[in-house]
Amino acid sequence: MKKLAQLLESKQVSSEEVAQKYLNRIKEKDSEINAFITVDEDGVLQQARAADQRRAQGSPLSKWDGIPIAIKDNISTQGLLTSCASKFLSNYKPVFDATVVSKLKQAGLPIIGKTNLDEFAMGSSTEYSTYGATCNPHDIERVSGGSSGGSAAAVAAEMIPWALGTDTGGSIRQPASFCGVVGLKPTYGRVSRFGVVALAPSLDHVGPLAKSVEDVAILFSLLAGSDPGDSTSAQIGPFAVPSWDGSVVKGLKIGVPEEFFSTGLNSEVEQAVRNSLKMLEEQGATLIPISLASNAYAIDTYLTIVTAEASSSLARFDGIRYGERVDAEDTNTMYAKSRAAGFGTEVKRRIMLGTYVLSASQYEAYYEQAQKVRTIIKQEVSEALKQVDVIITPTTPTPAFKIGEKRDPLELYLSDLYTAIANLSGVPALSLPCGTTSAGLPMGVQVMGDYFSEELILQVGSLIEQGVGGGVSGD
Ligand code: GLN
Repeated sequence: MKKLAQLLESKQVSSEEVAQKYLNRIKEKDSEINAFITVDEDGVLQQARAADQRRAQGSPLSKWDGIPIAIKDNISTQGLLTSCASKFLSNYKPVFDATVVSKLKQAGLPIIGKTNLDEFAMGSSTEYSTYGATCNPHDIERVSGGSSGGSAAAVAAEMIPWALGTDTGGSIRQPASFCGVVGLKPTYGRVSRFGVVALAPSLDHVGPLAKSVEDVAILFSLLAGSDPGDSTSAQIGPFAVPSWDGSVVKGLKIGVPEEFFSTGLNSEVEQAVRNSLKMLEEQGATLIPISLASNAYAIDTYLTIVTAEASSSLARFDGIRYGERVDAEDTNTMYAKSRAAGFGTEVKRRIMLGTYVLSASQYEAYYEQAQKVRTIIKQEVSEALKQVDVIITPTTPTPAFKIGEKRDPLELYLSDLYTAIANLSGVPALSLPCGTTSAGLPMGVQVMGDYFSEELILQVGSLIEQGVGGGVSGD
């Protein structure tokens, strides 16, 4: 992004030309990929012209003023459809911006549009969208991953240089891995969720996706910071983009949890991740075998908590405060009919499961147990991070699968086998490309670190990036 910023600064290109270039690219590619729900052509050109004017007057809002961005469609954008890929919100135009969107606007980033997702961010393939699936730009018969599949695919297909996603169990990192881009799930509390449509507030995160580690770091620096609008926001200072001199590798202790390299892991993914580890070792890092045995319970724990919180979060969609109303003879019937008509199958499944695990007779057996196991998982991650600086694993067990291939929801839930642990514990986690399969599909490696150690995991990611592909320079 530094190159593009430089071109804008030296007035070799205008923001309007940049926006037009991406709009043209969207026109050329998106009928095939379906990454966007809304493209705001007039809006982005208008914002780009305003950025050009600011530069002409010598007062850009930031170095990145005038570089466009795409926003996942579960993040509120004032006056711009925020559908969550649900029929229920197909007419919903928020009257306010999410904090992250305000921050981007304050830095001068024109918003090009809203990207596709699984309905209410529930899914791992962006197939559960009322607007149809987003295809993987590397093979359009395959999924883009989910739920931030639209954002990952838009970046991968160069329809936009960077984008925002959300991650509750892996929804930034898994699609980043499937589409061959970089995605960061920050530490819980480091980026505000005010104005982001909640799936499960104790697990939800907002984060950046881009083509290079550096671009992800730059976008993260625009997003991070405490926010009185989000009561879970951490009181911690801004994030400054580090320099990438590679010095962190000397003496770096890398934890390698062998449980993440066992049955179910695709052999090409395993090889690629082990190659990245070897490369870091050759540069001076030490690989330390560790155990994260409780990860065996991560998916069950995650699903119990995510469904419980979703059943409560989605109660607001009642046809009165939000959502398309189906009129009926009395209020309760109206609620039931509106919700039955507005929500898709996966959303209904999760609301029912979540209501069940929270019900008086089942609460102790499921929800309470899950909270206890979550504590054990959290403790195990914290203990491991006392012995090592970072933990490196594959991001997903397999590369992108075929659209329609996974019909059983349980199979889809397993996509988050290696990612949900960072949501349950709240530690930051980065996914970046670590090679391609013999069939040409991208594979991802995940770098996790201690709370608020984004700088370190980005530095380590940058080393892997340089080793694997000679560095991807973004735009
Ligand atoms: N794939 C996970 C799920 O279906 C995660 C979703 C997410 O992170 N938003 O719940």
